[in-house]
Amino acid sequence: MHSYDEDLTQQVMDHLLHRLRLDPPPLGRLGDHQELTLALKDAIGPAPQPPADVLRTYTGALEPTVVSCDHPAFLAFIPGAPTKAAALFDMVLSASSLHGVSWLEAAGAVAAENQVLRLFADLAGLPPSSGGCFVSGGSAGNLSALVVARDTGRRRLGLDERAPVRIAVSDQVHSSVGNTLRILGVEALVVPTADHRLTGEALRTALDAAERDGGAPVVAAVATAGTTNAGIIDDLAGVAEQTRGRNLWLHVDAAYGGGALFVPELRERLRGIEHADSLVVDPHKWMFAPFDCGALLYRDPKLARAVHTQDASYLDAIHGADGDTEPWNPSDYAYHLTRRPRGLPLWFSLAEHGTDAYRDAVAKGAAMARRTARLAERTEGLELLREPELTVVLIRRTGWQPSDYYAWSKRLLAAGTAFVTPSVWEGETVARLAFLHPDITEETVREILASLLTGDHFPA
Ligand SMILES: *Cc1c(COP(=O)(O)O)cnc(C)c1O
Repeated sequence: MHSYDEDLTQQVMDHLLHRLRLDPPPLGRLGDHQELTLALKDAIGPAPQPPADVLRTYTGALEPTVVSCDHPAFLAFIPGAPTKAAALFDMVLSASSLHGVSWLEAAGAVAAENQVLRLFADLAGLPPSSGGCFVSGGSAGNLSALVVARDTGRRRLGLDERAPVRIAVSDQVHSSVGNTLRILGVEALVVPTADHRLTGEALRTALDAAERDGGAPVVAAVATAGTTNAGIIDDLAGVAEQTRGRNLWLHVDAAYGGGALFVPELRERLRGIEHADSLVVDPHKWMFAPFDCGALLYRDPKLARAVHTQDASYLDAIHGADGDTEPWNPSDYAYHLTRRPRGLPLWFSLAEHGTDAYRDAVAKGAAMARRTARLAERTEGLELLREPELTVVLIRRTGWQPSDYYAWSKRLLAAGTAFVTPSVWEGETVARLAFLHPDITEETVREILASLLTGDHFPA
């Protein structure tokens, strides 16, 4: 099983080349549970099977039910649109079994990942001493960062390691932060927002009230640079003023909006991000890296090391037990140990294309969102619900019920036009278009908007 097999290699490579050449890749279709169960019935047994047969199961039955996130008209959730360079280099990682846990095992890979993290830190305005690691995504980044925020906060207050503390979050914060707080056993101080944006003023009011309510001390605040549902950027500067004035940890969740760091006009809206004590950016979203790739940065990495470094005698070797190295181990900056150096495909693509190309590609998504907003405004029967700040456009189809939006979404996918899923805005089901792929055309957008108006496929 571990020796090179020319035939097997050729067959898999042929499939890869076929997939890479598809332009665009198929949007895909919904999977049928029974069909899939049938297709997989005898897939794994005690005896070997010819690779061509196994591949045929994959290409014939499994792959068609996987929606291509890199299709330009994938506008649901937050799309993923890896550059070809990044996607290709991801294969190098797998084929080389790169293990990115420590400097000892993968110095070159970790050094390249750190070069990318340095670029992000510089764009965000974090100090030269900042640093971190790549994790699987925003959820892993938020969890890893907020453990450090919690423990650092307790230490600053002289509390013991089980003392209850609170973390301030807005009522719009990403669901992964809610999960994180539950996992950490930290109570949320939920700050209400007017107009969906956390402001310094709202945080001030909530923190003042928290000082008097007899609850656990607040040790940190979370701000979002680009909410997932609507692309709204919190008042980072105002929030930072509060956290700095009160010696609280500021965590900025820029999982989706982080791409804006590349574009000067958009970067302007992130003013205040330079005050983050920890920052999460998902390159697998608006920075065109393959899944899964999240970047986690700390203003003061030694605080993260103090929390995350795992102590086991067999790990002494990676922690410079010989005393003459000062290793940078990605495993010291998040809750993970084994990890693929998933920042490396992004490093390769950034080096190959240059950062100007990233700036332009990021800007295209935002420009298309603005154009779509203008089109929606001008179209009878459609209502733009909010001016897009990043790349999400929320649109109401006058008179539609939730079921109309869901039927519309299914019809667009079945027709191979686009993958667009509805969302809820202020209690109402609406159409939500999340742009990201730089090659989406205005023609496709017009087609999607027109499809919102043709009600004939729907029961009255
Ligand atoms: C996507 C997203 C997350 C979660 O990131 P994953 O990579 O899916 O784990 C967290 N916060 C925000 C704002 C996001 O957009």
